[in-house]
Amino acid sequence: MHCRGLLDKIFEMREECGVFGIYGHPEAANLTYLGLYALQHRGQEGAGICSCDGHTMYIEKAMGYVSEIFSEERLKRLPGHAAIGHNRYSTAGGSMLKNVQPIMANCMLGALSLAHNGNLTNAASLRKQLQHNGAIFQSNSDSEVILHLIAHARGGSSGEKFIEVAREIEGAFSLLILLEDELVAIRDAFGVRPLSLGQFDGAYVVASETCAFDLIGATYIRDIEPGEMLIINQNGLHSVKAIDSNKRAYCVFEFIYFARPDSKIFGGQNVHRIRKELGRRLAIDSHVDADVVIPVPDSGVPSTIGYAEQSGLPFDLGLVRNHYVGRTFIEPKSSIRHFGVKIKLNAIQHINRGQRVVIVDDSIVRGTTSKKIVKMIRELGKAKEVHLRISSPCTIAPCFYGINTPTRNELIAATHQVEEIRKYLTADSLAYLSIEGLRSALPNPDDYCYACFNREYPIGFPQEDPTS
Ligand code: AMP
Repeated sequence: MHCRGLLDKIFEMREECGVFGIYGHPEAANLTYLGLYALQHRGQEGAGICSCDGHTMYIEKAMGYVSEIFSEERLKRLPGHAAIGHNRYSTAGGSMLKNVQPIMANCMLGALSLAHNGNLTNAASLRKQLQHNGAIFQSNSDSEVILHLIAHARGGSSGEKFIEVAREIEGAFSLLILLEDELVAIRDAFGVRPLSLGQFDGAYVVASETCAFDLIGATYIRDIEPGEMLIINQNGLHSVKAIDSNKRAYCVFEFIYFARPDSKIFGGQNVHRIRKELGRRLAIDSHVDADVVIPVPDSGVPSTIGYAEQSGLPFDLGLVRNHYVGRTFIEPKSSIRHFGVKIKLNAIQHINRGQRVVIVDDSIVRGTTSKKIVKMIRELGKAKEVHLRISSPCTIAPCFYGINTPTRNELIAATHQVEEIRKYLTADSLAYLSIEGLRSALPNPDDYCYACFNREYPIGFPQEDPTS
């Protein structure tokens, strides 16, 4: 298969998500609904909840936002003391109900359902192998591959089967599995995607991010460790080292853009604090004489605060976001994406009249957003100069571990120098945070994956070299 074809296929199968699970609470489904509500930023395409009362599993899922999908009546159809839920991110190709999770099946272990955040790098070859042996697939998601592997696993107990599968799959997975009598959480050996454990009202909860705990009033206990399998049942917690894990590869983009600023991830570090630090480093490394600094809301706000603090420039709002539209980045067609930026962000007229303005955003992917913004601030906002500062390094390579970056050709920084990008964006100056600057804002910087910025993929990528 040609590289391009392979890449298209990979991006079609992309899984970007938020997961939430609870064991030991009579209102498991309601609490899962709230957890998913707090994790909505991790996926807006569709959502689902699967609950269990110890005998029977119940599942409800649909396309759309969590609040649209789950009515009171629908939640009543999800009884039981245990539940898992999933928010799915929108993708270019696979936007359909059959890909919405959790996915449920009956196998030797009885009824089982699964919710997965991350991307497997060997899903295509495993799928081929399974199909060769007669497996029939209902969706094109990585997660169904995991389900089949569990069904085929030779181990005697559920735990043995899960360990076998966890060692067979490669890539990024923060995985929740619900069985009739237990909830199991498994995290890949590198810990690419976050996954935290908490406690609420005598029950255990597991979530992609701790903002889900805050909403329900749960207490954060710790992260599920990379390579750990945590079994939660009526006997409490049982932790097993499922996969050898000697190298961390936490996704640094979770800090830059993806996670919510009020969450604590990767060992309990506050996302907002790190983002502010990124802004500070940016101000140190790429000073420019200016009158005011403004954020691209919402994700650019914390780094702009850091930039303002460090540079001594006043912080102001020059752009307003309409919160009631989906994220522009996820729209499949280029024409819609351009429109998306317009309906999403608007300049506050004349606020920057005659001023030299620094705009801070977290990242440039295709350049679509930044180009519109520079134009808006110059024309509507009446700025004299527009300087763009990006609180991450140049995004030059696609992610194969669960962040929805487009193919290499669509990444503006993969094919253009910074000066060429500046010209394209029509900014007076443009600067990105350096990789060293990014590393210096992180505790234990060697524990992160920077592949989208340096093409050094810590786990490898699907089959052939798609970056070439
Ligand atoms: P673009 O217009 O393609 O350059 O996208 C850049 C904008 O998309 C920035 O404002 C980022 O905040 C945002 N962004 C970056 N990464 C993602 C992502 N994985 N999903 C959605 N939006 C993103």
